[in-house]
Amino acid sequence: MRHQFPNLNVIEHPLIQHKLTQMRNESTGTEQFRRLVREVGQMLAYEVTRDLPTQDVTIRTPLAEIAAPMISGKQQCIVSILRAGNGMLDGMLELLPAAHVGHIGLYRDPTTLEPVEYYFKVPKDIADRMVIVCDPMLATGNSAVAAINRLKECGVTVVKLVCLLAAPEGVRAMLERHPDVTVTVAALDERLNDHGYIVPGLGDAGDRIFGTR
Ligand code: URA
Repeated sequence: MRHQFPNLNVIEHPLIQHKLTQMRNESTGTEQFRRLVREVGQMLAYEVTRDLPTQDVTIRTPLAEIAAPMISGKQQCIVSILRAGNGMLDGMLELLPAAHVGHIGLYRDPTTLEPVEYYFKVPKDIADRMVIVCDPMLATGNSAVAAINRLKECGVTVVKLVCLLAAPEGVRAMLERHPDVTVTVAALDERLNDHGYIVPGLGDAGDRIFGTR
């Protein structure tokens, strides 16, 4: 997809696009939606870790000794923005089983759309880790910007944001406030509506993952 955002990586893999279309479909129920979010979370974790550094280690195959690559550098921490981020978490942990996990609880004030923090728990050594923040919907960007502000206050220097969908407004907000953060998404949608929902979007990700509507 052609766009003007230097910080945005839209993953156009057919499997991701197919599953995203299923998620967008309003007739997709909770059980299927939850499975799809987990699966796409896993595939986005694959993409966001594409540039992890590797270092050769010497091993013996059954036939020969070789120097072969293993992931090196900082360990990872996945930070889920509650509650919808939890829908992507298990899929991402399947690919990064040694990652530690942080949770940041933010809700959107329905009138101001500003984020209000109600929970913050991250690993003590988070400053030394590469942090992958997951939140399915990058709408206004207010929650993700606030979460990353808090992580940087903790000393974090390497952050990547992974979302299912983004609105241009959210990508722009992230670029303005955190130009060092790359955003990996399955699609960049058209716009936000007056209630801060992404259009065409997929509705309220949390409600659809947890069946709360
Ligand atoms: N959060 C959601 O769950 N959906 C949107 O469209 C925007 C924010």
